Amino acid sequence: MRPPLIAGNWKMNGTAAESEALARGIRQGLGDRPPEGVEVLVCPHYLVLERVRAVLDGSTVRLGAQDAHWEPKGAFTGEISPTMLRDAGCTHVILGHSERRHIMGEPNEQVNRKLKAVLAHGMTPIVCVGELLEERTAGDTRKVVERQAQKAFEGVPAADAARTVLAYEPVWAIGTGKTASPAQAEETHRFLRNTMGRIAGPDTAERIRILYGGSVKPDNIRELMEQPDVDGALVGGASLDAASFVKIVRYKE
Ligand code: PEP
Repeated sequence: MRPPLIAGNWKMNGTAAESEALARGIRQGLGDRPPEGVEVLVCPHYLVLERVRAVLDGSTVRLGAQDAHWEPKGAFTGEISPTMLRDAGCTHVILGHSERRHIMGEPNEQVNRKLKAVLAHGMTPIVCVGELLEERTAGDTRKVVERQAQKAFEGVPAADAARTVLAYEPVWAIGTGKTASPAQAEETHRFLRNTMGRIAGPDTAERIRILYGGSVKPDNIRELMEQPDVDGALVGGASLDAASFVKIVRYKE
């Protein structure tokens, strides 16, 4: 009912040649027979989207962006619009990543505007939520992710919410080598699914995919994916190595 999605977030990494080589390595590693039913996505930086698209052309690997502005065009120096991303071949857009929230100071209200814009342009938003270490220590994990989800989906019709993807990414687990235990991940994923039920109804809650992100590696993906409410992974560091990303995609084998 919820096809697994494994997404690579390449962040601000890779020259054009390096990005093409990485895309080629992933394509070759997956071969003609990528694991049945598993959706695969890579999200390179804006400048190499078209080149990566050319390498992946004809494969089942999808192309995504790491952010988008909410307006289709205009006087927004330095920004990239959903229209441009769709034109470049993107099917997915990551929104509200913790690095944008905590380093660039992106507020919930902008995530909400971006979410509506990406949906309006027919792409799939991947909305990231997650708590800081001090918020977890204070016992505030649920409060934080609930608020982020509520704000992100404000004014979004249930049918649209059902075609988004959520990513639970505990900030303390991103790029640190510390993964949430499968039980910790499942607990928050279940809570988020229930939260989506309150926001958009039980049908949407059952349909929405919730990815886990935070130091996912070939050796921990399988037990994370065994959790009933973990529907995939958003992978940072390990997605920069074709062999390890391919192993993550092939977690069932
Ligand atoms: C991320 O940035 O989305 C992420 C999960 O990074 P990493 O896998 O490196 O922790």
